[in-house]
Amino acid sequence: MPLRVESIPEEKTRRPLRRLFLLYHEIRPSESRYSYAIESGMFERHLDLFVRLREAQNYDIWPELTFDDGHRSDVEIAVPLLQSRGLTARFFITAGWTGTKTGYMGWAELRSLHEAGFSIGAHGWSHKLLTHCSDGELQTELSRSRLTLEEKLGTPVPTMSLPGGRCNRRVLAACAAAGYTQVYTSVPRAELLPLGAMVGRLNIPGDMQPEWVAKLFDPESRALSKLERNYRMKEAAKRLLGDRLYARIWALVNRREPGSDDGGEGAE
Ligand SMILES: [Zn+2]
Repeated sequence: MPLRVESIPEEKTRRPLRRLFLLYHEIRPSESRYSYAIESGMFERHLDLFVRLREAQNYDIWPELTFDDGHRSDVEIAVPLLQSRGLTARFFITAGWTGTKTGYMGWAELRSLHEAGFSIGAHGWSHKLLTHCSDGELQTELSRSRLTLEEKLGTPVPTMSLPGGRCNRRVLAACAAAGYTQVYTSVPRAELLPLGAMVGRLNIPGDMQPEWVAKLFDPESRALSKLERNYRMKEAAKRLLGDRLYARIWALVNRREPGSDDGGEGAE
């Protein structure tokens, strides 16, 4: 007699929770023309949306916040706004900028962030695009940054995010060799739990309205898959044009601020 397999009605199966990691950089008190900075009032509207989404029952994507670069405004402006709403976040820090570069956190601020329960990851030593690094430079960008953060904070730092989102097979192998178990990318897509070795994120430019962000969480909307498709096309264009030419076009289109240090080719 054949074994009878009990089928579970589909409506009773719980779909795995998906997470959408959002990527912020700098928060400014007033509006900015710089794509990678978001005005604090707009940022608060984003946070209020995430609180509403987390309280709602009819969706299966959970918003998660991340910040790249270690800008001082993250701790001065973003953290109090997060804390007042009971939200947490992951901060990826450009270790060589900590305590040395104007506008970025010092070690005392970073320690207080860690002690307040926020997760700290690495974001390179000097924000060099890792695909452009020699083997020696990769060692500095990946190992030196991790070891310095671990020593200064007294905690393991197994996660990192890619400066400019740039990666290839060689970079990923170097990340693993440097002791990272999880690499956060700039590929906009929701991730299933448990998280894998690479975690996609959606970069949030300063003019992204919360109403538009809300669409990404709507199960009926295809906005997120469209974004991922566009991102893949953009990456293909970079490979085709080369980083230098792509950067020139990027600067024209994205109103890059003169003198802003964004790794030369888009902050991320
Ligand atoms: Zn960055």
